[in-house]
Amino acid sequence: MAAAWQDVVRDAAAVREAAAVAVDAALLAGGLMRTGEQPNASDVVNYAPFTLLPSAVPRALFEQAYAVQQDFNLLVDAVSQNKEFLEQTLASTIKVDDFTARLFRIYQQVLEEGLAQTVFLGINRSDYMFDCGLEGAAALRQIEINTIAASFGGLTSRTADVHRLVLNVLGKSEEASQLLPNNPAKGLALGIAKAWELYGSQRAVVMFLVEEVQRNIFDQRCVENELWNRSIRVVRKRFRDVFEQGSLDASRRLYMDGQEVAVVYYREGYVPQVYNEQNWEARLLLERSRAVKCPNIATQLAGTKKVQQELSRPGTLEKLLPGHPEAVARIRATFAGLYSLDEGEEGDRIAATAIADPDRFVLKPQREGGGNNLYGEELREVLEKIKDSPERTSYILMDKIKPQPALNYLLRAHSPLQVSECISELGIFGVYVRQGRELVLNQAAGHLLRTKAIEHADGGVAAGVAVLDTPFLV
Ligand code: ADP
Ligand code: MG
Repeated sequence: MAAAWQDVVRDAAAVREAAAVAVDAALLAGGLMRTGEQPNASDVVNYAPFTLLPSAVPRALFEQAYAVQQDFNLLVDAVSQNKEFLEQTLASTIKVDDFTARLFRIYQQVLEEGLAQTVFLGINRSDYMFDCGLEGAAALRQIEINTIAASFGGLTSRTADVHRLVLNVLGKSEEASQLLPNNPAKGLALGIAKAWELYGSQRAVVMFLVEEVQRNIFDQRCVENELWNRSIRVVRKRFRDVFEQGSLDASRRLYMDGQEVAVVYYREGYVPQVYNEQNWEARLLLERSRAVKCPNIATQLAGTKKVQQELSRPGTLEKLLPGHPEAVARIRATFAGLYSLDEGEEGDRIAATAIADPDRFVLKPQREGGGNNLYGEELREVLEKIKDSPERTSYILMDKIKPQPALNYLLRAHSPLQVSECISELGIFGVYVRQGRELVLNQAAGHLLRTKAIEHADGGVAAGVAVLDTPFLV
């Protein structure tokens, strides 16, 4: 599935010229990130890393990924409402994983009190790789679904414009005209706006819950600005601001220094390091409130690796989505092999298999954000060490997906221009809104292609490994 420009990849002069054009075009288009040196100021910014050339993506798999997105929205929503399933699934994990346990305690606490929230907003991104099995034809395989702080729905729309220009510069105008329009930020904002409207208070604001270090602010601004343009007010606050300024009234409406909040959109809160005791308290306050949380704590838990693994057990999808056999079939068709490491015979067997043949698997802890998974020799070592201890159950095992590499250039500030063997990961954004029991919005909102050099097993754009890309359908 090589794209039509694998001929120019080795043409050094053409590549150099195109790269200079590409970088300036990215800056002009707003494909931006703050710098590591000044992550909280916009005085000096740089371009977000991206590929020189779009990457080939099989059209059938791209369409399959879009076609299953509404099903995944339904599934995430169903899991988030299924207390019994979440309890059973996470029971072994929370015994050994303190972070998941703490989230789970908040989940139980807000359920015991009774939910004040009546409008629910989900923004997720389902990520895939194209597995080239032995038979040759590539297959769509889900890597994971991100139910909290799924990023790059803003910046990705800029990348397609840059690639269109690059292809024109390289004399590939026919191909340039085939690049698809893509603007996830618009779809995400539509969902947030719908939730805000259903919350039903003109004066209330949308609160972006943001990090202390905000390098990726421009990606968030894309969504924010869409909301301002709909006359919806947006405030950006950190957990510590919530701790200092947040309060609930008698009907558990959320206020920040007297300003009512209709929607809390988390772009933070998915790694243990951000939570000190005050931030945990702030999180609990938000979860107890009537405000629409995107995601609420149940939906965050629905995105854990352990839940993903349990969903792949025969019969589970059918139980969670009764009356939706076609959705179940479409979802299951994207699953890779996933294995529980819970204590017992099943876990013993798969642990032994992975120790004997580590290159077939990826070992995943219950963490988000890239750079946490274990591969190859490291996988073997860790599994050897923990195979007879309960700690094993804080991980899951997954079949390793093996995509076909293609040549490309990863453009990064202050990095030399050199050709790399690359693989790509496709993400589809999904948005849904539920009011009480009624799903009032359920959509796919656009896509994201991220590409990295094959020598990196793991890591996203924020982690400095993958770069933004555009699919060229073949
Ligand atoms: P995170 O929550 O940290 O993003 P992921 O499950 O997305 O965790 O894994 C991070 C990265 O590791 C992915 O972007 C992908 O590059 C790689 N990866 C994850 N699972 C697999 C797999 N089964 N096969 C091959 N690579 C994988
Ligand atoms: Mg990921």
